[in-house]
Amino acid sequence: MKYAETIIDLVGNTPLVKLNRLTEGIAATVLVKLEYLNPGGSSKDRIASRIIDAAERDGLLKPGGTIVEPTSGNTGVGLALVAQQRGYRCVFVLPDKVGEDKINVLTAYGAEVVVTPTSVPPEHPDSYYSVSDRLAAEIPGAFKPNQYFNPNGPRSHYETTGPEIWRDTDGRITHLVAGVGTGGTITGTGRYLKEVSEGRVRIVGADPEGSVYSGGTGRPYLVEGVGEDFWPGAYDPSVVDAVIAVSDADAFRMTRRLAREEGILVGGSSGMAVEAALRAAKDLGPGDIVVVILPDGGRGYLAKIFNDRWMQSYGFSEVPDESTVHDIIK
Ligand code: PMP
Repeated sequence: MKYAETIIDLVGNTPLVKLNRLTEGIAATVLVKLEYLNPGGSSKDRIASRIIDAAERDGLLKPGGTIVEPTSGNTGVGLALVAQQRGYRCVFVLPDKVGEDKINVLTAYGAEVVVTPTSVPPEHPDSYYSVSDRLAAEIPGAFKPNQYFNPNGPRSHYETTGPEIWRDTDGRITHLVAGVGTGGTITGTGRYLKEVSEGRVRIVGADPEGSVYSGGTGRPYLVEGVGEDFWPGAYDPSVVDAVIAVSDADAFRMTRRLAREEGILVGGSSGMAVEAALRAAKDLGPGDIVVVILPDGGRGYLAKIFNDRWMQSYGFSEVPDESTVHDIIK
């Protein structure tokens, strides 16, 4: 019989698929890695078990303990999966720009959720960083994984995502493109690929316009899960050769094109990464192989990116998409 012992054993080993239509006029091969095929639906499943294992080992998390974390949702799902298996309580703190569907997913797994305003600076007492610090201090037996500074985040990508890409491209990858949130994905995956290729693989970050990684100050943007207004310890800029800034409008348009033209329904940070990858790939040749990490699926964004009225309300689509929803003619 072939089956996994637990749901957590199915994390990782996500497939690569080639882009075909979006790459018209581009000589390089562009492959995307489908992280939404992880059991919790995102790349964050990878970091969760590694972070919790380490916390148990270091005595930071004891039986009956509570996991408290500020997370845009995906890390919460990964942590909730592991917590469920091992009997921990989870309390997640989210910014209010996160879609309701993402919140409902967390509560479905049994986690508790606290929503905080996006519009306040990180040092404000209501910011999602401050609220999670306070809860971690007040709840007895609380452990805060602190994904922005926990070295086990990048380490999990160094040990799994990087080797998978190297194996699945037979060592022929020339460029890695990944969005930067905590920076764990690009740091861990990029470090592995640079080491194994002796520096040959180029590492390209994708960042929302206005975020610090591409020289901004953290001006609000709508794409979720990427961009920051501070420099997390999980991000090592020495691994990254270039960062490409992408506007919300370009990220969301590309996200919609991925669904319509490639059949790949993913979130806005995936569209952002593909937009950056295609810009970079324009200058590359037929021998180049670009791998783009797509962190999560599109189901959590149906009321936003995939909703014409929502897109138009922000001026993101000048022309309404033709033939989307038709009223029944009476
Ligand atoms: N996209 C989404 C949707 C995410 O949730 C995250 C994680 N914050 C990222 C991209 C970025 O990954 P990382 O934190 O490893 O940089």
